[in-house]
Amino acid sequence: MATKKKRTKKGISELRQDLVSGDWVVIATGRARKPHAFVGKPAAFGQPVSNCPFENPFSVKEPPLLRYDYEKQDKKEGWAVAVVPNQFPAFTRGECGEFYENGPYKWTEGVGLHELFITRGHKKYIQDLSLFEITTLVKAYKERYHAIVKEGCVKYISIFHNHGKEAGASIAHPHSQLIALPVLPPDVYKSLKGSEKYFEKNGRCVHCDIVAHEVKAKKRIIYENKKFIAFAPFVSRIAFEVRIFPKSHQSSFDMMEDKDFQYFAEALQTIIAKLHKGLNDPAFNFFIHTAPIKNSYHQYHWHVEVIPKTAVWAGFEMGTGIEISTIMPEDAAKFLKKIKIK
Ligand SMILES: [Zn+2]
Ligand SMILES: [Zn+2]
Repeated sequence: MATKKKRTKKGISELRQDLVSGDWVVIATGRARKPHAFVGKPAAFGQPVSNCPFENPFSVKEPPLLRYDYEKQDKKEGWAVAVVPNQFPAFTRGECGEFYENGPYKWTEGVGLHELFITRGHKKYIQDLSLFEITTLVKAYKERYHAIVKEGCVKYISIFHNHGKEAGASIAHPHSQLIALPVLPPDVYKSLKGSEKYFEKNGRCVHCDIVAHEVKAKKRIIYENKKFIAFAPFVSRIAFEVRIFPKSHQSSFDMMEDKDFQYFAEALQTIIAKLHKGLNDPAFNFFIHTAPIKNSYHQYHWHVEVIPKTAVWAGFEMGTGIEISTIMPEDAAKFLKKIKIK
């Protein structure tokens, strides 16, 4: 494939290639919409507080995995963040590392963990949390991650958050989830391989290079603080996608230091608050991508991807894996950057 440095003519759409995964995305500039065209109905949905299982997460059979209480200066009492095993888990504890064969097929038991991170307040969403609450939530993510790594049974730990029914939330009370898996997820595997290839060729971390380029280019940055940076990726798969990276190289989420929790919490909350305000409470998912537990993928660089539900996967997306975004990431970044949240 011939590559030229500069573009000479503007077309009706642009295909951009992800430097890490090799995936292509389509930015349909000819069908481009203004940021305000993405404003929809609020995603928060009602469920009566009277039968909310998360009002008292300690009433379940198993003891909580973690519990953080408010501190004196918060002027509140009792629990602030609780981590409990999911009562309807997709994965459960069991014998680890056993793979079986059945004819040409390979399978393993769904051995893993499925945990819930519950914050206090039935309608208190990420953007509404106090600095103590959001920092404590982040601390809980890290603490569970670290504890599971030490157990040494699973291969990958995924931490994610769903907001709104369209994003897959079934319980209205805000909560995040952790699923620890006995295998490497395909998306992560692809990114790991891509990072490895880039490192072999250039001797540098691909994500560090991307961050350095974004800092220089400026046009896709939405927010940054001392330790973290958030931008609309050049290869946004979906309108208003945002990625948050630690500025210094860290391959695993487990490497985040205690003193950085607050910076990470602020970056995450700022992005969610901007999306909430700018797009009128869109449904969204965010998840952490990190190097897997055992293999030393030192060239990987953990980060968070925030994906608002601004489009649905249709035939083209399902059939090709290519998503069509109808806003330039540069325009989405400009819009979100301007949104004042305090
Ligand atoms: Zn509740
Ligand atoms: Zn890096």
